[in-house]
Amino acid sequence: MSNDTLNSPPELYLKGRAWVEIDLLALEHNAQTLQSLLPQGCQLMAVVKADAYGHGAIHIAKHLEAMGIKAFAVATVSEGVSLRQSGLLSDILIMNYTHPQNAVFLEKYGLMQLIVDGEYAKALNDSGYEIFVHISLDTGMHREGIDISKTEEIESIFSMKNLKVEGISTHFSSSDSLVQEDIDITMRQLSLFYDTVDSLVSKGYDVGKLHSQATYGLLNYDDDRSHFARIGIALYGVMSHDDKTRLSPKLKPVLSLRANIAQVRWIEAGESVSYGRTFVADKRIKLATVCVGYADGIPRNMSGKDATCLVHGKRAPILGRICMDLLMIDVSDIDNVVAGDVATLIGNDGDDEIRCEDFALLSDTITNEILSRLGSRLPRIYI
Ligand SMILES: *Cc1c(COP(=O)(O)O)cnc(C)c1O
Repeated sequence: MSNDTLNSPPELYLKGRAWVEIDLLALEHNAQTLQSLLPQGCQLMAVVKADAYGHGAIHIAKHLEAMGIKAFAVATVSEGVSLRQSGLLSDILIMNYTHPQNAVFLEKYGLMQLIVDGEYAKALNDSGYEIFVHISLDTGMHREGIDISKTEEIESIFSMKNLKVEGISTHFSSSDSLVQEDIDITMRQLSLFYDTVDSLVSKGYDVGKLHSQATYGLLNYDDDRSHFARIGIALYGVMSHDDKTRLSPKLKPVLSLRANIAQVRWIEAGESVSYGRTFVADKRIKLATVCVGYADGIPRNMSGKDATCLVHGKRAPILGRICMDLLMIDVSDIDNVVAGDVATLIGNDGDDEIRCEDFALLSDTITNEILSRLGSRLPRIYI
């Protein structure tokens, strides 16, 4: 057991309020399964941004590196620096903006920077630091990247003396959908990407490693020319949502979210629960208070939405508004519930399971958001 998150006394019992359990065998299973789907010559680039989607970036990245994964992607330069300081030796790509004032860290820690346009490339080049870069091409998502029609702007980067181009990438806007219009758009993005790459190659540029796919790109599309697939959510054993994919490998959820029960008592019919009295009991109810709330990443808008948690392997409905640190559940039908018992918000208990996908759906979002917003005060326990 270890705890990367809290600066807590070492003797503190980590399962003492609310915590996240990380199943490293499930992570290994997912990494191997996903790697086996990649074409010859293509490797996983493990996306460990946002603290590895709430799983703890240092622990996850070091475990994957020990398994042989050699490329990682994060959002921010500080995420990259903290991985290096923890001893990670592999390639690390920074996908978000790094201010040119921070270019020194890119050089010092050997981090690769994603370049989104010529102006940004020039600013980094002018910093005087020697920096490895990947060029991001905008093939239609219009989030980041150089417009592929701007040939001169793209080519100019190759002649910048402090920048060494190590790769070229693009990102799909709609690869998670199998609606025909979205398929057409994704196929078009892919062909625009390779048209641009081919034209650069024909002019003698060394474009380095190519990558286009994230999780849904990999599961819905073939790309046998890429060298990396930038995989995030699937590594953690869940999908963003339940929409069908062309390939559906058997993945194992890595994360469980559990919390202790602090108090159990009966309330009478007509009494209400939590702020605003949105829940009023229509019969006598055995109520339990669970030590987890929206500050831990349980979305407050899940209140009143048929959300449940598991206690002794049985479903216990969440009652009334979710508070910052606590929420209340109905355990009337569950025997022998006492303070100190465990409630499972995400994960297995007995024969039942609360899937992260179902949890996310209850608050109208995707698993990526739920996981990446799990609170930093939750200890991560690795098993
Ligand atoms: C976050 C991100 C990924 C990973 O996406 P998943 O759907 O979680 O696999 C890949 N590429 C880029 C550019 C990203 O921002």
